[in-house]
Amino acid sequence: MANIDFKAIPKVSLHDHLDGGLRPQTIIDIAQETGLELPTYDAKELAKWFQDQADSGSLVEYLKTFDITIGVMQTREALTRVAREFVLDLADDGVVYGEVRWAPEQHLRNGLTLDEVVDAVQDGLEQGMEAVEAKGGFIVTGQLVTAMRHADRGLEIAELAVRHRDNGVVGFDIAGAEKGFLPSRHKEAFDYLASEFFPCTIHAGEADGVESIKDAIVSGRAQRLGHGVRIVEDIFLAASEGDEDIVRLGPVARWVYDHGIALELSPSSNLQTGAIEAFGETIADHPFDILYDLGFKVTVNVDNRLMSATSLTRELRLLSEAFGYDLDDLEQFQLNAADVVFQDLEQREELKELIMDAFDDLREGR
Ligand SMILES: [Zn+2]
Repeated sequence: MANIDFKAIPKVSLHDHLDGGLRPQTIIDIAQETGLELPTYDAKELAKWFQDQADSGSLVEYLKTFDITIGVMQTREALTRVAREFVLDLADDGVVYGEVRWAPEQHLRNGLTLDEVVDAVQDGLEQGMEAVEAKGGFIVTGQLVTAMRHADRGLEIAELAVRHRDNGVVGFDIAGAEKGFLPSRHKEAFDYLASEFFPCTIHAGEADGVESIKDAIVSGRAQRLGHGVRIVEDIFLAASEGDEDIVRLGPVARWVYDHGIALELSPSSNLQTGAIEAFGETIADHPFDILYDLGFKVTVNVDNRLMSATSLTRELRLLSEAFGYDLDDLEQFQLNAADVVFQDLEQREELKELIMDAFDDLREGR
């Protein structure tokens, strides 16, 4: 394990929020232009502030961080810059395919329309991809358009997503307060998306349990689960034979398992938000390894790179340190993710080929 070059691993990023991955200096630059007040104007100190707020254990303090990031993403120029830098940072992290999620409805304060903000982000993503290519690199990105689950714009945002399906938008998501805001609240939106064959991932099984995951699948027809880590609450120890545990899957876990519904697990974020507090306080306590071992379709994600001071490179390293994963395991996580990206089957197969070739090179030390 000691010899693994984690940065060189070709990565697929399924769960990474645009408003959770800004560069500190960019926040400072835009805040100074627009007069938004910041706790500090030093990039290093600001990065530390974000991490401390997220680590504070208080949801109120955590959410203040998004007031700032969303606050500096209210103009076309700012959205394009943030999206462009986001792609450059992903490529630098070894990401070859990334889906970037964000909620257009939170970026209308200066009078831009929903369509205009989606266009602005798409411009940035395309500029980023071109810049990576110009330097001899490779990355493909797509937008996941998110509706805020406590708000009432689900159908409008679903229509926005479908309207931009030929303009870089690859899927739909709902985010925000999970508890008390089941996907069924947005049933009309999900019925419409299904009628358009438009793919959905849904935040579920992070701040709420099995019932929320069930509703994401039943009402939302979710093809992937945003985190989904609390699916472990539907897995029960049936018997122990020697040092082998026999488990019984409840009906929701059984469906998720049988249908290979991917879990967008985000180890560091799951620790910070208390999603796995029943299990412990370190990465080694994360049920990631239990789920992987049982054969669930686990994927590794960052959620919010700025708030968690992390990257996919770091998350893979932390998991390998905790559970002893080797290149074969790390390859499986990337293939799991490549299997469920919101692209055509042909593109998913191509992505898997690219990953397998790159892992062959890594194994042979090329
Ligand atoms: Zn998330």
